[in-house]
Amino acid sequence: MDSRFDLTGKLAIVTGGAGGIGTATTRLLARHGATVLITDVNQIAIDTALAAFEAENLKVFGFNTDVSDEIATVKFFDEAEKLHGTADILVNNAYQGIHSPPHLTPLSEWERVLKTSITSYFLYAREFSKRLIAAKRTGQLVNISSIAGSSGIGRGNFAYSAAKGGVNQLTRELAIEWARSGIRVNAIQPCSVNTPGWRKWIESEGERGQALIENLLRGIPLGRVAEPEDIASAVHFLVSDASAMITGVVLPVDGGNLVFNAGGTLGNYSS
Ligand code: NAD
Repeated sequence: MDSRFDLTGKLAIVTGGAGGIGTATTRLLARHGATVLITDVNQIAIDTALAAFEAENLKVFGFNTDVSDEIATVKFFDEAEKLHGTADILVNNAYQGIHSPPHLTPLSEWERVLKTSITSYFLYAREFSKRLIAAKRTGQLVNISSIAGSSGIGRGNFAYSAAKGGVNQLTRELAIEWARSGIRVNAIQPCSVNTPGWRKWIESEGERGQALIENLLRGIPLGRVAEPEDIASAVHFLVSDASAMITGVVLPVDGGNLVFNAGGTLGNYSS
């Protein structure tokens, strides 16, 4: 194995670590030697994920804490530091979305989405970097964004998209702020990912579900939605020494979705 991918001795935090992408990312980082702390608000999902990690002998610990709550976040970082030391890696991944017509959406819902999907990213980044900078240590931060942060997707996703656009810009700004402290900051933009949450959403669309999948696939040149492991391997690369010269990048992991114009034609048209 290329030792630059080895994470032995590293401590990682994955928010929303009991969800689809969070679980896959946690598993991959732990398989490469990291100790991983997952934060989530779904205790049943935390217990299920921890049982699976334990069966694989992976070093993963769960914390039931709300990423959008500042006091809870500071408390989590203090406790994590006391129990496990200073974290080397942070993956901001937890989020909450909404499917709601903009003209009928209450302010409280807009605020809930922004608090969980971008404010939490700042809070975790602040607590993570503060400790690294004080200890004069380097670190790696990856923000899970979405293609919705760069192009409009409709279907009542406007608050989620606004948060993800903010995550992209937050990534670039933090990369500049912390470059000379040795903290690299990058983001990943997935297209649709085959997670339990994504499948539940398709199911909730009832009869429109199949048409929705076909519509999504038409926009993805590689012809399939992503698997959680596709996102996890990009995270692994970005938190490892193999990407030592990369910071401030917002990387699509989307099968070509973002570069494909809706009016474009796939394949060798001229032959
Ligand atoms: P998921 O719903 O499976 O997991 C999200 C996890 O976050 C859940 O376990 C949930 O309990 C947790 N969570 C929610 N609110 C929280 C809070 N306040 N505090 C702590 N934990 C909280 O979602 P997923 O599909 O794995 O998505 C993960 C990331 O990937 C998100 O940032 C999402 O925007 C991004 N993404 C997903 C897709 C997709 O199609 N699944 C596409 C593009 C981007």
